Amino acid sequence: MERSLAGSNVGGWRQDGVVNGIVETLEEVRSSLLGVVGFDDPAGWSDDELLAVTAAVEAVGRVVDAARVACAGEVGERSRVELGGERLSTRRGCRTVAELLERVTLVSGAEARRRSALGAATRSRYGLTGEAMEARFPGVAAALASGELGADAAGVIVRELDGTRRVADPVALRGAEQELVAAAVGSGDAAGDDASGDAAPVRCTADELRVQAQVWAVFLDQDGPEPDDERAMRRRGFRFGRARDGLIPVTGELLPEVAAGLGRLFDAHLAPRSGGGFMTAEERADLERSGEERTADQQRHDVVAAIIATAARSGEHPTIGGAAPTVLVSVRAADLKEGHGVAHADGVEIPVSLRAARQLMCTGGMQQVTFDGAGRIIGLGSPERCFTPHQRRAITLRDGGCLIPGCRVPASWCEIHHVIPDADGGPTHTDNGVLLCWFHHRTIETSGWGIRMIRGAPQVRPPAWLDPGGGWRSVTRSPTRLADRVERRPAAVA
Ligand SMILES: [Zn+2]
Repeated sequence: MERSLAGSNVGGWRQDGVVNGIVETLEEVRSSLLGVVGFDDPAGWSDDELLAVTAAVEAVGRVVDAARVACAGEVGERSRVELGGERLSTRRGCRTVAELLERVTLVSGAEARRRSALGAATRSRYGLTGEAMEARFPGVAAALASGELGADAAGVIVRELDGTRRVADPVALRGAEQELVAAAVGSGDAAGDDASGDAAPVRCTADELRVQAQVWAVFLDQDGPEPDDERAMRRRGFRFGRARDGLIPVTGELLPEVAAGLGRLFDAHLAPRSGGGFMTAEERADLERSGEERTADQQRHDVVAAIIATAARSGEHPTIGGAAPTVLVSVRAADLKEGHGVAHADGVEIPVSLRAARQLMCTGGMQQVTFDGAGRIIGLGSPERCFTPHQRRAITLRDGGCLIPGCRVPASWCEIHHVIPDADGGPTHTDNGVLLCWFHHRTIETSGWGIRMIRGAPQVRPPAWLDPGGGWRSVTRSPTRLADRVERRPAAVA
């Protein structure tokens, strides 16, 4: 699968349609440079001329270096590990980003790694919804991109400061970065108070910068001698941020073993097949038919959703007022009926969509509460539409996991979906409940997947966009039922 460069953003150069011209323009620049510096013998220049040309050539080199780093950063981003077989490096037959860069640019492996590390530290990052986030070293990124800061000086700042990132106060770290960039490019008051007003600011060489950066690193990591784990215990955290664009950001620092445990859960659910083996041709075909188009970030989000639902259902957590810690969502009956409006979940500051409310009701049940005009409760329905643990076990035995072919979410992580909605008279009965993972449940109304029950056994039909003319087929991932089917298959003719 080839991605077009025009659809990406390398260091903010992109203007749609211009990318194709960049290579030609660079070729023109290269020719003119050859014309300027390639045909004159420096032996004939005066000392001043020689040094002026040396500095001017370096200024051009810094611009070129910034572009090299931006390209390397983007190559690295498209080759990140979680893309699996879709990694750019893999698709081009290389084992690592550095190997791909070496092949394209013919530089050494060490130089390729330097460029890609600096590229990663200075490229804009993108959040779940594609919004641009600041680079890891925004000051270095800006100075590099402007051609003021050379790649080796930039590398010095990033390498020295990055080691303190986990322990340094972020504000102090940002301050150190700014100071060092200012010292390198000669801006700000880095030259000191005693510099006379019109003197050109003193610019540090990369080696002088390294000395300064090391002093900063010691300052930023004052806890240096303290054992890592005590410091980590103190700094661990998990936070909800302020809602933005309909999403709640989370941030935090996990202890390595906690991150490892979460990582294992992600791996187990996101690897092509648990255990990391190769997929069979049939599994591969199923996966392709499933039309999986979630990003790795989105898939991890959905794993978190399943972890939360599974934990809440487990009965092993403290209850709230005697009830399992489930989310309470309220919605006006009229809004639900007419299909517009929003619902509200306890404990979050922004509304949730009706689609989310329907999903929660489908799987978790609902209770009707009727108020009079003054707000008094005048009717209280009994809780309904909630599958019992007994029903859940039976459905689990029958379906074995998410019904959507190619989906690998196991039964214990699935929700139970009413095939015929309660509103249309669908009963909360095993003949009307099937297992779907959080994502396929959430998107079942819009994804085009069809589900029907034939004598109490589920069949699915792929959406037309995936498999035009595709028919209904029986599905199960239950090992018991699969064994059953094999046994009833007519014996092969010898
Ligand atoms: Zn699924």
